[in-house]
Amino acid sequence: DKKKAEEVKIEKKPLLEHNTVHVEVKRDPKIQVARLKLPILGEEQRIMELINENEFLIVAGETGSGKTTQIPQFLYEAGYAEHKMIAVTEPRRVAAVAMSARVGYELGLSSKEVSYLMRFEGNVTKDTKIKFMTDGVLLKEIQSDFLLSKYSVVIIDEAHERSVYTDILLGLLSRIVPLRRKRGSPLRLIIMSATLRVEDFTENTRLFKQPPPVIKIDSRQFPVTTHFNKNTNSDYLKEAYKKAVKIHTRLPEGGILIFVTGQQEVHYLVRKLRAAFPYRKDVDYTKLITKTKPVSDADAALDSEPEDIESDDDEVEKEMKRARKARKKAKQKSKALPKINLDDYDMPEDDGQADLVDDEEDSEGHLSDSDAEEDSLAPAIKACRQPLWVLPLYSMLSQGKQARVFAPAPAGARLCVVSTDVAETSITIPAVRYVVDTGKKKMRVYDHLTGASAWRVVWTSQASAAQRAGRAGRVSSGHAYRLYSSAVFQHECPEQHPPDLCRRPVDDLVLTMKCMGIDKVVNFPFPTAPDRMQLRLAEKRLEALGILEKPPMKNIKKDEEEVLKVTPLGKAVSAFPLLPRYGKMLALSHQQDLLPYTIALVSALTVPELMSGKSDSWPATGNVLLLGDPGVMLRAVGAAEYAFVKGEEELFCAKYGLREKAIKEIRKLRKQLTSEINLSVSGVDVTVDPQMQPPNDSQARLLRQLLLSGLGDQVGKKIALDEVKQGEDKRKFKYAYHCGELEEPVHLHSDSILRKTIPEWVVFQELYETGGEDRRKMVMRNVTAIEPEWLAMLVPHLCNLGDPLDDPPPRYDEKSGRVKCHFKGTFGKAGWELPTSEV
Ligand code: ADP
Ligand code: MG
Repeated sequence: DKKKAEEVKIEKKPLLEHNTVHVEVKRDPKIQVARLKLPILGEEQRIMELINENEFLIVAGETGSGKTTQIPQFLYEAGYAEHKMIAVTEPRRVAAVAMSARVGYELGLSSKEVSYLMRFEGNVTKDTKIKFMTDGVLLKEIQSDFLLSKYSVVIIDEAHERSVYTDILLGLLSRIVPLRRKRGSPLRLIIMSATLRVEDFTENTRLFKQPPPVIKIDSRQFPVTTHFNKNTNSDYLKEAYKKAVKIHTRLPEGGILIFVTGQQEVHYLVRKLRAAFPYRKDVDYTKLITKTKPVSDADAALDSEPEDIESDDDEVEKEMKRARKARKKAKQKSKALPKINLDDYDMPEDDGQADLVDDEEDSEGHLSDSDAEEDSLAPAIKACRQPLWVLPLYSMLSQGKQARVFAPAPAGARLCVVSTDVAETSITIPAVRYVVDTGKKKMRVYDHLTGASAWRVVWTSQASAAQRAGRAGRVSSGHAYRLYSSAVFQHECPEQHPPDLCRRPVDDLVLTMKCMGIDKVVNFPFPTAPDRMQLRLAEKRLEALGILEKPPMKNIKKDEEEVLKVTPLGKAVSAFPLLPRYGKMLALSHQQDLLPYTIALVSALTVPELMSGKSDSWPATGNVLLLGDPGVMLRAVGAAEYAFVKGEEELFCAKYGLREKAIKEIRKLRKQLTSEINLSVSGVDVTVDPQMQPPNDSQARLLRQLLLSGLGDQVGKKIALDEVKQGEDKRKFKYAYHCGELEEPVHLHSDSILRKTIPEWVVFQELYETGGEDRRKMVMRNVTAIEPEWLAMLVPHLCNLGDPLDDPPPRYDEKSGRVKCHFKGTFGKAGWELPTSEV
């Protein structure tokens, strides 16, 4: 109660008056003119009043209204950078760099004063006043300085993107700000977002007791006509190319902005469009400049459908089109792209090579070159003499190259930017009148069993589609071309994608947060909270695996809620991009030089239905047999790679009953996991030889132990036949096991190789239910035999051990440098008796 009274007192007396000092800024008059056109300038006074009088403020404004570039300047001029710094976080690297450069330029300050910082890169100095950074960097800073004492104000930009880090930052800042007030050194938090889902922040009383004031900035937006394609062609890159060609050859001037999903696609389209409409430095194009012709709506439709007509792919028509295309293609030889002089684009190294491998993983398949259908555009392309000034834009693009999109195209040329979704809200490109939207974006998709993630191309949300379309109406009325049908828009595109944090496996999230020092995960004020029960269960699972633990008793105060902390093992595990149980296997296998096997194993366990039918083709003995179904998978994957190299993959898969698509997917996953692990885990440098030798006997034994270390909470113990109740059919219990506290028996999968030996103790990857109502049965999938002596050693958190035994006496173990003792004890809540084990 005393505490409450204190809080009330404090809330009544906010310490917020900011001592207004005016900091003189000498701006270039040209910049001042451009600034005055931004709608946010008219709101400066109101915004500053709200900031001075409130700890929290939400600024919701149309993209391009000037939030990111102007608000830091308002703060700077009002003296917020006099004693402490102004922090601005961005979820995208490209925005942190571009915006710091722009704000510095507008303020007439150097990068020493307006700087940026992100992982592996930055230009912050001791004189930095405004610091742009990625959200991950600010989170790291909170871990070493919880009160963020270097800053007077924190701006969380692009909050609508709802990146995991941004969401966690908002939760933390909602608590840090009141703490700073109590210390007498107030901190302001400004949340900036596009005009999307602001309620998630204002209506969440766990996050903010009182909803923060919201200021809305309208931007001058011209009308944009949206056109849908009649049919949805899965080759959206080809469609994008065709649409860009049509716009350029038929429609009046105005920049084109094309949205694709990743860096490779960007480069592909850039190359193709440059080849179609090359720009040459030595040619004077100014003669080509014509007066803008008015264009009728019918012309502007460019073979698309108006917005309100619902249409979709007609299968028959598509079939016929395909056949026609194939015939044409057979007749025509595919033509190579003409060579273009890249020097003319003044960026010699920008030859379509990826600058860096990044999160935007390569997409496959549809990067095919010339095509008969496209050739129908050839006459128009040939007749068009106006060059297209084509520029790439994506998050890992170097600073110099990204800045080019803001400059006007050379006289006579039309600007065309091919971009990933960074141009959706983070970066506003002036002079765009035509938007070409593939409707696709890359999203991380997680496997629910292993937590392995892959980038998948998915439909954008309807909200994103609206944002993208809006980019065409910045300078005048514009047109947005959606390369898919309105039926797809209505039925396939979700209204919004859920925030990243809610699409991620919770075990992983809990571990990530604990590693950041956020202990009370269940009570954390998430903007959109994941299921509490799931969070709690995840904590329990992680504790059972030795990844989290209760701190020693003496540190726990009375009444304090029990808080689980990360163990040293947990720290190591968190570096792996998988569910912690698999991360644990990888962390431990790294110590045993078995990483390539474990990577292959996790990949194989991620892909469903690798084998159809029995595993009779893969006979084994000893530890290799006891490694069980995962062992069969390992050998199958290795052997399939041999066959692949010889060009006999298809035959091989058919012969051994392997699903060819699964093998391909596993190959991709192994590659991806290997590179992610090399990137994210320091000290690890694995190369994967796809044609892995089958594990030998001792490796197979270690792999059995590794599987136990990660799946220790999923152990089965054989039901002895004399345990079976009278009257029950004993035959039904041939492959039956006890499992934890489950009443009913669980069974070895009918295809499991372990049916050959029926081991006493097993671990399994997954439990599932089969059979109809009367034949319902719980079945274990992907089963490995273990030795009960290993349990005390590998999953001690689930064992209940007595005092060390005198006989056999303790001994010094040279290998581990520790004294080892023997114990008697039990395993799990069911209390299964363990053999005497040495730990
Ligand atoms: P918001 O954050 O509200 O989306 P911004 O502050 O990013 O808006 O952009 C405001 C205006 O400043 C836009 O018209 C944009 O084109 C322009 N702008 C931003 N960066 C640059 C730059 N580097 N060069 C030229 N113009 C820029
Ligand atoms: Mg912005």
